[in-house]
Amino acid sequence: MKKDSKTFHQVAERCTRFSPCGCDNCGCSNSTNSTASEDVSCKSCKHYEPSKVCTLDLYQEIVNNHNL
Ligand code: SF4
Repeated sequence: MKKDSKTFHQVAERCTRFSPCGCDNCGCSNSTNSTASEDVSCKSCKHYEPSKVCTLDLYQEIVNNHNL
């Protein structure tokens, strides 16, 4: 499975479940909301999980569907 930042970005752009962290409890210490939309990537999604990328199993599906 392809796991690179470009693909993470392309998948997140197409993903209906993309949920950037709200910084309420993730500990990322980002206190501003204005820049939150800039990093559209699975890595900034609350459903991201390092070993399989997406806890909802959407990552591979989107990669396949869009030939990413
Ligand atoms: S981690 Fe999953 S839910 Fe989040 S943007 Fe990527 S594919 Fe979508």
